[in-house]
Amino acid sequence: MTATPARWAQPRTEAEISAAISDAAAAGLRVRALGSGHSFTPAAATDGLALDLSGWTGIVAADTRTGLVTVRSGTTLRALNAALDGLGLAMANLGDIDAQTIAGALSTGTHGTGARLGGLATQAEAFGLVLADGSPVTCSASERPELFAAARVGLGALGVISTVTLRCVPAFTLAADERPVPVQEVIEQFDSLAAANDHFEFYWFPYGRNALVKRNNRVAHGGNKAAREEAGSGPMPGWRRFWEFEVMENAGFGALCRLGRAAPRFIPSLNRFSSAALSSRTYTDTSHRVFVTPRRVRFVESEYAVPRESLGDVLAELRRAVPRLADPVMFPVEVRVAAADDIWLSTAHGRDTAYVAIHQYTGLPYRAYFDAFESIVAQVAGRPHWGKMHTLDAERLHALYPCFGDFRRVRAEVDPEARFGNAYLDRVLGESLPSDDDPARPRTGRDGPPVIRLAASASGRRERSGACRSLAR
Ligand SMILES: Cc1cc2nc3c(=O)[nH]c(=O)nc-3n(C[C@H](O)[C@H](O)[C@H](O)COP(=O)(O)OP(=O)(O)OC[C@H]3O[C@@H](n4cnc5c(N)ncnc54)[C@H](O)[C@@H]3O)c2cc1C
Repeated sequence: MTATPARWAQPRTEAEISAAISDAAAAGLRVRALGSGHSFTPAAATDGLALDLSGWTGIVAADTRTGLVTVRSGTTLRALNAALDGLGLAMANLGDIDAQTIAGALSTGTHGTGARLGGLATQAEAFGLVLADGSPVTCSASERPELFAAARVGLGALGVISTVTLRCVPAFTLAADERPVPVQEVIEQFDSLAAANDHFEFYWFPYGRNALVKRNNRVAHGGNKAAREEAGSGPMPGWRRFWEFEVMENAGFGALCRLGRAAPRFIPSLNRFSSAALSSRTYTDTSHRVFVTPRRVRFVESEYAVPRESLGDVLAELRRAVPRLADPVMFPVEVRVAAADDIWLSTAHGRDTAYVAIHQYTGLPYRAYFDAFESIVAQVAGRPHWGKMHTLDAERLHALYPCFGDFRRVRAEVDPEARFGNAYLDRVLGESLPSDDDPARPRTGRDGPPVIRLAASASGRRERSGACRSLAR
């Protein structure tokens, strides 16, 4: 995927971000902020101004007592994790890689796994944003709460995130337990496995019998050496990390993939071989060194969030569909979980969620596989990851998100000319901004504009009120 921006800017201060946006507006250009370019959708693509934030990085403020850390938006998760290490803090949950910028990861609803935890956006407490007119604003649950509710998973549609305030947790150690288990057994025990482990996920090679089950559990007493020893094992020695991750999972698997691409008829056998070769390992390490592993083999990916209770049906359909495909599938399916949240465009909005991610090795045909997958998840109101391949448009997405109309309304208020639009947003949010006859648009007029408050409840969870709640099913 390539894009040719008319203009490129690399701001190093918030004032430079504002000036670049104002100059682009004066020239009639649309604007997109760039993250690390790790989305599989053209979410960041623009033919207008590309704002490269790789020079706008680092921690601005940190309070180790509350765990609140404010970070510049171009900071990569890798740099953030290292800086948090130094403060004795950590992100409560992370995805599989750390190459993304914090703003890019939040903007597309990036998530890890954990039945009692939400995606990365649930860890965001406040944003500094630069709006379409170049003005800097801040938002949080108590300040411009609607803008905050939209910006937590904002698709880059509301403004350029300049800073993010995250609620971090004290550094912790994870004990990792990875082992092959027959996939049928994993599916049958899915609920209890998800409930019994802090971070549970599995990979399944579509023609293989075994899934690789990953259970990562928090070791009490923080992320120090004593805690690791208490858990009974330590970090993998450097040589073993290199062997397991670089040689086996990347170089070895990459070689099998290249073989499969050269001779696709062997793919099911290669896939079964990969499944049979899965082995067990246990180790403990600082949380982000367990969450994150190197991914060097290139692939394409689609991922849908489905209601947790529908996972068994979705996987049963997928297992029936894969052998019927004309083009075989080389890459595994990944299954993860997340708790329901209240973020307007979060894929886990309002429902405990299972994530099903399908992949294909780069250069192999994938369209029929991805289409079959989309038709399966459509039956259970699956919601696509905003940064991974999907074909849904605004009309379909509107039906899947109770607060979709509210998001569009807030966008129309802060960016009436869709300055931050691009072709991807035109598709997923709709080309025109909401009009009075938008059924999802809350009534204004005599009763005044709708108010959506995000009030802290006794449990500390934020609850929606007003227009968005009235639309919730
Ligand atoms: C190998 C690999 C592994 C992955 N693993 C996971 C995973 O485990 N879990 C998961 O959920 N996803 C995963 N993803 C998807 C990835 O997390 C998302 O696509 C994420 O958005 C990429 O972040 P980025 O910094 O590359 O953002 P980009 O792809 O560059 O941009 C994403 C969006 O964010 C916007 N944006 C970026 N910066 C700003 C800003 N400052 N202000 C406003 N908008 C901004 C862009 O305009 C664009 O719309 C993976 C992707 C890859 C390639």
